[in-house]
Amino acid sequence: MIKFLDIKLFRYLSLFLFLNFSSLPVKSSSALAAWAINSNGVLELRTKSNTKLKAYFQKSNQISGDRFWVDFPGELKNPRTIKGNGPIKEVRLGKPNKGKTRLVIEFEEKTYLKPLTWRLVGLDQNRWRIKLFDPKYTFKKISEGQVVRRIGNFEKNQKLIYQNKRAKDYFKLPVVKQNKFSVVIDPGHGGPDPGAIGIGGIRETDVVLEVSKIVKKLLSERGVKVRLTRRNEVDLDLPPRVSFANNTNADIFVSIHANASRGKRRDINGLETFYYRGWKGRLLAKKIQKQILRVSPGSPDRGVKQGRFYVIKNTKMPAVLVEIGFLTGRLDARRLEKTTHRKRLAYAIAKGILEYLYIIT
Ligand SMILES: [Zn+2]
Repeated sequence: MIKFLDIKLFRYLSLFLFLNFSSLPVKSSSALAAWAINSNGVLELRTKSNTKLKAYFQKSNQISGDRFWVDFPGELKNPRTIKGNGPIKEVRLGKPNKGKTRLVIEFEEKTYLKPLTWRLVGLDQNRWRIKLFDPKYTFKKISEGQVVRRIGNFEKNQKLIYQNKRAKDYFKLPVVKQNKFSVVIDPGHGGPDPGAIGIGGIRETDVVLEVSKIVKKLLSERGVKVRLTRRNEVDLDLPPRVSFANNTNADIFVSIHANASRGKRRDINGLETFYYRGWKGRLLAKKIQKQILRVSPGSPDRGVKQGRFYVIKNTKMPAVLVEIGFLTGRLDARRLEKTTHRKRLAYAIAKGILEYLYIIT
């Protein structure tokens, strides 16, 4: 299923690219001012202020190797190719069509890339960074122009723009006001209570802790304050989880769990999200449920439901409890085993949360 998803996404990208070709030419100079690929594998870009970038990744084909490219508005004057080294085969600057600039990075064959984890981050109005490969490769920096030319207070102006290149469609996270929101994420169970035990001994406590940590990371990058009720395998009862959330005056509370079916039936799979009361809780549950379903094709939608779970019943703020799949189900368990799927679920939960925060403000 994951393979299938990948192919679909690539098709989506090519289509997107095609549409891009037909856009109207803009008569202005290139918005790309400087770029550098550093020896640690980070690509840095400086652009004109408030430039809209589009970035893509395409797996190798008969014509070329794995490629990553960024399109900038404005026309490039001198198309050129710069020879690479290490994992980078070459860097090409071109004009794919009138009024556009394209920076293409082509990788050498067999370079180990993880495009699903790539994020193009806007550091401020005119600076961007994305990590393309691990420092395990020996690579000598290639660059053109001065990337660092800070304007104003970098930290204060920080405006994180999150985009995953390949799965742009569902990994694009909404922008919410920085440092305005506080969220409590509650990874279910922990310590002596492992929660559900699924196929092959997979434990709920491990799965939900990893997912929760990634959700925290993603939301923090978006300027949302996130607290976890637990960060490791500790014994944590339900009342302290609730009082922790109530005492921190969090805007929302999200408890993350994975399911087990009675009798460990392998044919029972699916995702569900519970809320206890109120339209806000329901809205949050709906937003999260919609997103987690998108990254779990084929797994049944068990719906958004009212539930009387202790942690969502006793928290003061809008609260939900998410069940990200059945560890006892054949389809769900096979996925939940994998970090790639856990990451997708975390992106989905983060996206649901951000959509909710975006709407209620
Ligand atoms: Zn649970």
